[in-house]
Amino acid sequence: MTSIILEARDLRYQYPRGMEAIRGISFHVRRGEKVALVGPNGAGKSTLLFMFNGMLRPDSGMLLFDNRPLAYDRDSLRELRRRVGFVFQNPDRQIIAPTVWQDVAYGPVNLGLPDDRVRAAVEAALGAVGLAGFDRRPPHQLSSGEKKRVALAGVLAMDPDLLVLDEPTNALDPAGSEDIMELLDELREKGKTVFISTHDVELAYPWADRVILLRGGEILREDSPEVAFGDAGLVRKARLSVPLLLDLHRELERRGLSLAGRRPRTVLELVQAVEQATRKAGVRPPCGTIHVCDVDMTGREALAGWLSSHDGISIGAMGTRAKQRAATEGLPLDFSSGVIDKCILKALNGRSSLILTVGGMVAQVERRVALFREESGADIGVRRLGEA
Ligand code: ADP
Repeated sequence: MTSIILEARDLRYQYPRGMEAIRGISFHVRRGEKVALVGPNGAGKSTLLFMFNGMLRPDSGMLLFDNRPLAYDRDSLRELRRRVGFVFQNPDRQIIAPTVWQDVAYGPVNLGLPDDRVRAAVEAALGAVGLAGFDRRPPHQLSSGEKKRVALAGVLAMDPDLLVLDEPTNALDPAGSEDIMELLDELREKGKTVFISTHDVELAYPWADRVILLRGGEILREDSPEVAFGDAGLVRKARLSVPLLLDLHRELERRGLSLAGRRPRTVLELVQAVEQATRKAGVRPPCGTIHVCDVDMTGREALAGWLSSHDGISIGAMGTRAKQRAATEGLPLDFSSGVIDKCILKALNGRSSLILTVGGMVAQVERRVALFREESGADIGVRRLGEA
């Protein structure tokens, strides 16, 4: 069992002259988890999140970070805020300096780090959010998505253990939202714990390891997304909606289709369940191949040469570095989120695809496809670029 990083014990909070916004909340978050706090407007999500780094202090109850109760003196809060990075819903509330560089450097400079460590921290953080080269830009000229990334970079520059994001995709377009959620996945892969709040069920459902449904300052349910959102009555009570995939799954079962396995979290899982339930033995078209390219190991000419002999192939990019490379080389991306699943779906239709990515993610693609091959019996090949 992994250790607990954050624990809430019977928290209560009432705003001055307001009603009680948090009414006896207890939960815990494990290291490396992705947790979504889901509830309608006014449920108390922001209020609860503000307690995680001591911006609000509960009237009663207790928060523990790394098994130690929060203390509210200046030094303790300073240390807590280094380890618990908070990204506000509105980046304008967070971004204060006249240039991106100064803004991201604010935290490390305040920690009293020497210049070279500040520089290294800022460069790493800007690289991680895909904003390398934005150093001198004034933040107010950036798009909403870019501002969100600057705010996140400012938090990452402190190398926190826990990232807390209040409505991370608020005011972003669909592509911007997907980028941010994928970025959070990358950060989790690097060992961060990620806690978000949202009212967007479709966003939380495929993403979270665990969801906490909140309404009226109380927890209605804390469970895996497919269980928590699978209770239609509860979801209605929370003034939310059942995720589309779960709804469809339930409708198909009601119509007598016996769908084996757990409730689907992705389109691929639903397609697989439907195929298994309806397939006649032995009839399956030949599958396509998924090619994987480590962009750090493949030169511009080699990639262009390969693509010229695979005209019209669908291309996906996983991770900020791969997406940047696609942008610099003008490669049109067919997929920029949920890339592996979408390429598997292509392959099931007999079409091949190319995934651009870096380092350890190449092996991640191979593992994911191998697992699918084992579960489904579909003979999908994976080839690294450069392999025969
Ligand atoms: P959410 O983030 O889920 O939309 P909030 O935490 O912002 O919910 O708000 C929870 C409740 O607390 C709401 O009823 C809201 O009106 C109230 N509230 C929020 N901020 C304040 C404040 N500064 N003063 C008084 N009441 C507040």
